Amino acid sequence: MKNVGIVYDHIYAEHKTNLMYSHPERADRVIHAISRLREEGMYGENRRSNFFEIQPRLAALEEIHLAHSESLITEIQEKTVRAAKFHQNLTTDPDTVLSGESYTAALYAAGGNFSAIDAIFDGIINSAFILCRPPGHHANVSASRGFCVFNNIILATQYLMREKRIKKVAIIDWDAHAGNGSEDIVYSGVPNVPEEAELLFFSIHQDPRTLYPGTCFPEDIGQGKQKGKIVNITLPPRSGDDCVQLALDHLILPMLREFKPEYILFSAGFDGHHRDHLTNLGYTSQGYGKIIDKVMPVAEEFAQGRMSLTLEGGYNLEAQSNSIVNVVSKLSGAGLIIEEDQKTNDQCLEYTENKLIPYLKKLLGPYWKNI
Ligand SMILES: [Zn+2]
Repeated sequence: MKNVGIVYDHIYAEHKTNLMYSHPERADRVIHAISRLREEGMYGENRRSNFFEIQPRLAALEEIHLAHSESLITEIQEKTVRAAKFHQNLTTDPDTVLSGESYTAALYAAGGNFSAIDAIFDGIINSAFILCRPPGHHANVSASRGFCVFNNIILATQYLMREKRIKKVAIIDWDAHAGNGSEDIVYSGVPNVPEEAELLFFSIHQDPRTLYPGTCFPEDIGQGKQKGKIVNITLPPRSGDDCVQLALDHLILPMLREFKPEYILFSAGFDGHHRDHLTNLGYTSQGYGKIIDKVMPVAEEFAQGRMSLTLEGGYNLEAQSNSIVNVVSKLSGAGLIIEEDQKTNDQCLEYTENKLIPYLKKLLGPYWKNI
């Protein structure tokens, strides 16, 4: 059995997005998930001995500054002060809502990623799930958008590269929406890290022609030192788990093996689930666990098993919680807890296998021997 850390604090539920109107990215998401983790013996007093509760720390302002502009940080700070004063929600874009505790919650969301990384490097745990809010992968240097405030996964990448001297980090963003904020920040290389540090970034998302944010296409492969190390896997609606498995087998795993990551981060959004109303990818709750099945051997071979998963989207409470318990169970070395019927769409499979993957190989092949 492996030791798995769950990073959680009630502050993640204090970012209140529905004071005025109902909002899909709501506090119930983490409240529901943590209670499911408790029921499964993965969190709380009755947790099994290989599960660890990790207390998140507050990120320092200078740490947030490594990925975000002064003006964005000030905007979030000021708007949360006003939101607290009037006990109402304020917005940074039409989708992204702040309440009186949002700034603190966002600092703890980023800091929770640092706490997880510290616990892994201290040898307490092998891997971690950070059940944090607000999410991060749509936020870029100067904009909090798409429900996201600070970009937790990029801040984690910088923390690994600066504080832990990790030279090779891989990110797998499996949220149904493209990790456009993350890609914006790192498109020419990760800022404010040692020169020799390298990032390989995968975003597996629903075809942006059919879903927010409408960017991050296969042709966007990075530039400068990052060229060939940004991979946008744009799956058609109704792809299901099997298309992700094809992308893993033919693209992600061979590239990871060639890259040899020393740490693997996941932007873990669960809105690709077939019960999620915001997207149409048609994944099951075991689909995410099956990604861990395939990536874990690579993490063990090159990264001493070091992986952390950061919550992004996921708007059907039950689907998200089922998916999370499956993923955490897999991280611990145990089996799936919940399985649903698989829905495979033959046209999507055929498109992914014969069109999308060969096209991505053609674009990225010049940079990789293994594909
Ligand atoms: Zn999403």
